[in-house]
Amino acid sequence: MSRRESRRLLAEGLTVAAANYQVAVVIPHCAECAKPCCRLDPLVLELDWKQLKALWQIKESRTAFDRRISSGKGPEEIRARDGLYYVHRKVCPAYDEAHRSCRVYDRELKPSGCTDFPVYQDRGSVVADLRCEAVDLKVLTTWIARSAGREFRIVQSANEEFPFLVSLSVRRMATK
Ligand code: SF4
Ligand code: SF4
Repeated sequence: MSRRESRRLLAEGLTVAAANYQVAVVIPHCAECAKPCCRLDPLVLELDWKQLKALWQIKESRTAFDRRISSGKGPEEIRARDGLYYVHRKVCPAYDEAHRSCRVYDRELKPSGCTDFPVYQDRGSVVADLRCEAVDLKVLTTWIARSAGREFRIVQSANEEFPFLVSLSVRRMATK
């Protein structure tokens, strides 16, 4: 098998392992979470126009909305940049506080950032966002190591700018 193919397979395996960790460990905790991420504090939600329009139920055209945002008259929680929209410090309108759940959970509208949070695969590593209280790095490391196989070891490193983002990189063990 070529190196490229084996990297692809490893990345696929890590994507599945990260998703399984979310299902088994993170999601069951959401109902009792002390600081739900969907309140968007401190998290920032990134949306395209289609998602923003549907979630915020915007009736006007995009041009009119953008004009309103740039004149400071738009919803204060929304910022526009490079064709995308960023929402911060206000509860996401799709969040159901009573049931502690997302109303667009299984729908195309759900932003990919929501699906990825707090554990996702990125370029052959698993990234964990420690702003989610359900993430246990020790358990996650064991989880990823089990998925990668015995010939690999896990190397942990924190992002310099955002130390709450921790990468678990998979390295092949040196052969004697
Ligand atoms: S921060 Fe983590 S545990 Fe809390 S609601 Fe979000 S994903 Fe669930
Ligand atoms: S779209 Fe759903 S998962 Fe994403 S922030 Fe809103 S309620 Fe939470």
